[in-house]
Amino acid sequence: MNILSTAGSKAPVSDSMTRSVHWVVRMNHRNRTMSFVWVLLMLASHMWERGYGPVAWMLLCLQFLVYPHVVYFVAARSKNQLRTELGNMLLDGLMFGIWMAALKFPLWISFTLFICAGINMTVFRGAAGALLAAAVIACGTLVGAAVFGLHAEPATGTLTTSLSIATLSLYLLVVAKDAYARSVMLFQTRQQLRAKMDEVMALQQQLQEQSTQDPLTGLFNRRYLGDAMARELSRCARSGLPLSILLVDIDHFKRINDAFGHQAGDAVIVHLAQLLREHARAADVVCRYGGEEFLLLCPEMPLAAALERAQQYRTSFAAQPLQAGAVSIAVTLSAGVATFPQQGESAEALIRSADQALYRAKAAGRNRIEVASLAQ
Ligand code: GH3
Ligand code: MG
Ligand code: MG
Repeated sequence: MNILSTAGSKAPVSDSMTRSVHWVVRMNHRNRTMSFVWVLLMLASHMWERGYGPVAWMLLCLQFLVYPHVVYFVAARSKNQLRTELGNMLLDGLMFGIWMAALKFPLWISFTLFICAGINMTVFRGAAGALLAAAVIACGTLVGAAVFGLHAEPATGTLTTSLSIATLSLYLLVVAKDAYARSVMLFQTRQQLRAKMDEVMALQQQLQEQSTQDPLTGLFNRRYLGDAMARELSRCARSGLPLSILLVDIDHFKRINDAFGHQAGDAVIVHLAQLLREHARAADVVCRYGGEEFLLLCPEMPLAAALERAQQYRTSFAAQPLQAGAVSIAVTLSAGVATFPQQGESAEALIRSADQALYRAKAAGRNRIEVASLAQ
């Protein structure tokens, strides 16, 4: 993994007039322009001491004042800006090698050029980049030696040595500053991503709840009941335990709506939902089965306990009329109780049995609990 592969390899915009220049190309242009001025000063001081001629001075100016802008121009207009910029960095190393050989390998200058090119490539390509930089510098020195001859005059004057140290130090500071800016950017991006992830997870949770909950009462809905019932039935079947269901329906609910209004009717539904939930065990699944119909799924509960529970609900509900402003709404419920496996071996059969029992409770006058008949 290297910065070139993570940053993407395509130029962001294709139109030649409006295309944007990749940040790596822009950053390298800024750093190259700045650091090449220091390198120019370092080399100029050495060349002044050694009395180089006008051609050398002209090449020096071309290399360190014009070249940075030429390579930027080429990269910025390239179809693959990052690849071209990598080529530019390799070219920097090659040129440095040629300058080292042309100036007869002054030690401080060679060291400074070598480290600058090496660091630059390491930042972008890791250890492989350092090796690549060493290789291109070596090639440059071979080219330089072939053109200018192989000489070694490692000594530099005090001014050149001082300028080399200053160039190296400034370059390292610039690299460190860029590294800091990049880690700040990375940290901020990570924080933004984390905030977005939290948002997505909260939305997911909300959607999950909405898909399994009844919005009026907060009880589970029928969709959730289907899954829960299948799960609990197979668990109880495996362990040979009973499972009871209570199908509860408010008596003469239409009359409540007609007499007190739909809102009051809603309040009665919520009131019963609270009562059912309050007295349910943690393992029970309390579900709004229809308009004013509820289904309680009670795993591991035998028929007698289920019947007792249904009677408790019936008496409590009848004993607690709903206070809606100044009016008190007296209301009762009926329920049918069925237990697995005697009154149904499947979810459908069990609900059918409980429904038949509820029908009988209604037919027998309401405010009653009826137990389902044995399954045929
Ligand atoms: P029974 O004793 O036989 O159950 O009589 P009932 O009047 O309760 O009859 P039924 O169960 O058929 O009527 C249910 C009514 O509940 C019909 C519908 O208008 C009303 N209803 C259904 N959902 C809601 C709701 O969310 N809010 C309100 N306020 N009313 C509802
Ligand atoms: Mg009803
Ligand atoms: Mg009903």
